[in-house]
Order: sequence, then C-alpha cells, then structure tokens
Amino acid sequence: MSRGVEARAAAAPPAARRRFRTRVRHWADRLAVKPLTIEFRTLRSKWASCSDYRRLAFAEILLSEPREFQDFVIVHELLHLRVPNHGPLFRTLLSVYQPEWRIVSANRVTGHCSRRGPTVPPRGTRPASRS
Ligand SMILES: [Zn+2]
Repeated sequence: MSRGVEARAAAAPPAARRRFRTRVRHWADRLAVKPLTIEFRTLRSKWASCSDYRRLAFAEILLSEPREFQDFVIVHELLHLRVPNHGPLFRTLLSVYQPEWRIVSANRVTGHCSRRGPTVPPRGTRPASRS
C-alpha cells in the first residue's frame, strides 16, 4: 500500500515542485524567516507541517490545489517559524499577509505543526503596503 502511495507522490511534475519552492522562498523573504528545508510528503491528515528545526513539509496533493490556497498554507507554516501556536498574534499576522485567509480556508482542515518553541519577535517583517 505505501508503495502505491509513494509512486503517486513521485508523480508530481518536478516543475510544479520548483514553482512551489520558489513561492515558499518568496514568502519566506517577505516574512523574514529562513526555513532550513522544504520537502513534499504524502501527509494524510494535514496540508503541511514544520519542525522545531525549521524543516517544512508540504502535502504532495497541495501541488494540485489552487494557488491562493497554496499561498495560504505556505504563509501559515512560515508564520509558525515565528509563532508556534494559533493564538491572537498568529491570527493577526496571518490577516496582515493573507487578509482573505478565512474565506480561502473555509471548509478545509489545515494541519499545523508541532513546534513548541518561543514566539520570535517579528523584526524585519514587511507588512502589506499602506496608503
Ligand atoms: Zn498551524
């Protein structure tokens, strides 16, 4: 069974993975965080996860989701490199970078990471432009 799952996971076009990784790096720059690794896995119950060691894993099936939802998951996981929980600060930052996150994520279950470290002050972040 796992062999079949692995085969499907490996079927994702390399170009799709490259584009996705490029977007993760784009968002990482905006959020001033530095993920150590960006991997794709066959995650069964969540869209992504991150470790205490800044290792991000995204569900392979996320590659076939709409771009706006991909961005929501990317920003969500990258923000966990600063805020390890889903508290008020996390939701505030998510709203700054993904104002429509409640709409984009409606009716979807988003997995979250198991990071338990301290909250990192958001230095060097660049909030959405104001007029
Ligand atoms: Zn989360």
